[in-house]
Amino acid sequence: MRRLILWGVVALMMLATWIIWLEPVVLPTVPVLFFHKTKDFERTAAWLSRNGFRTLSLEEFRGVLRGTRKPGRGEILLTFDDGDASNYAGLMRPLIRHREHAILFLVTDRLGEGPPRGISPSAPSLRSKSPQENSPAAALRGAGDADRYAASAPHAPNPYSLRWSEVVLMARAGIVELGSHSASHSFAFGSESLLGFATSPNWKTIQASSGDSRASLPVFLGRSALLGPSFHPDSNLVAALVASGSKARTVASGRETVRNFRLRGGSGRFEARSDYEARLNLELAGSRRAIEEHLGAPTDAFAWPWGQRSPELVRRAHELGYDLIFTTEPFAAVAGTDSLEVPRIGAEPDPAWLSTLLWIYERRTLGAILGRLHPASLPRQTIDPETNP
Ligand SMILES: [Zn+2]
Repeated sequence: MRRLILWGVVALMMLATWIIWLEPVVLPTVPVLFFHKTKDFERTAAWLSRNGFRTLSLEEFRGVLRGTRKPGRGEILLTFDDGDASNYAGLMRPLIRHREHAILFLVTDRLGEGPPRGISPSAPSLRSKSPQENSPAAALRGAGDADRYAASAPHAPNPYSLRWSEVVLMARAGIVELGSHSASHSFAFGSESLLGFATSPNWKTIQASSGDSRASLPVFLGRSALLGPSFHPDSNLVAALVASGSKARTVASGRETVRNFRLRGGSGRFEARSDYEARLNLELAGSRRAIEEHLGAPTDAFAWPWGQRSPELVRRAHELGYDLIFTTEPFAAVAGTDSLEVPRIGAEPDPAWLSTLLWIYERRTLGAILGRLHPASLPRQTIDPETNP
């Protein structure tokens, strides 16, 4: 018995030695990190550089996946989603100073025109929204206008996004490469099922002053607008339901039971298949074309909004010219990883946090365990126009 325990301990120690010390050297991984806003990336870039991390270009990364390039220890891919304006002010200097490289996944409809904005360390965050945009009144206006959130809503360039001049400048400087993150990054109603009404604590003021506690936003089954034809609810629907004292008001902060009922007859319509196909084409091929027009070179890289996709969508994106397609499945890439399903790990720029994350994902066994414990976020169930992943 003692002998058996002894052998067990020895086996465990050998396994730990392999997982912690040997595996990352013999079989290195390439963690692909994704970030969003970058108010201050200087500390992160300095930390990466000081700790011997090397940021790959898409071509080098492609070589790793194909097995034509052996990844070195500490090689990572940095990606930034959504094209937030802070990606210019926050990345330009740190990437140049520390000779690092990043991939920007752009939502092409959002990018504005005009010259690059000045980079000043003391400049207020470009991201701070105007007070009107966040007000309860604005949220309630949305309640009577469900189509506002529908996929067909035009997405005008917005001041919180990068400008074309800025991304072109960064790309020409060789510090970033551009990929598509769709044209509009839309969220849409995925079915005619109304789940209920959401009441946000932020809207209390309005309810109190209007004396109507039923005023709230309708909650539909929501999903990325790329996934299929979207449902367009009747824009008078909400007002009608509230007026009738509907019992559907159940959802608040996602904790309560969801009462799911079907809206009948004439209360909305699904997008025609042909319209969906045309829209999909604009999102995938149109965004790729927009990048090519501004940069003078096409991109082959795409990242799914919210990571939401289907085998059919992946096939379509590939046909339209993307051969490096990124998800949000939290695993590290290795030689032989499918280039149409490249995993990415959601990251925060905080060096302390990043060091733990990279320590784990440089070890493929530990990374695989953590990735399974923390699967990519499930398709979202509610329409939340304020969130912007
Ligand atoms: Zn996104």
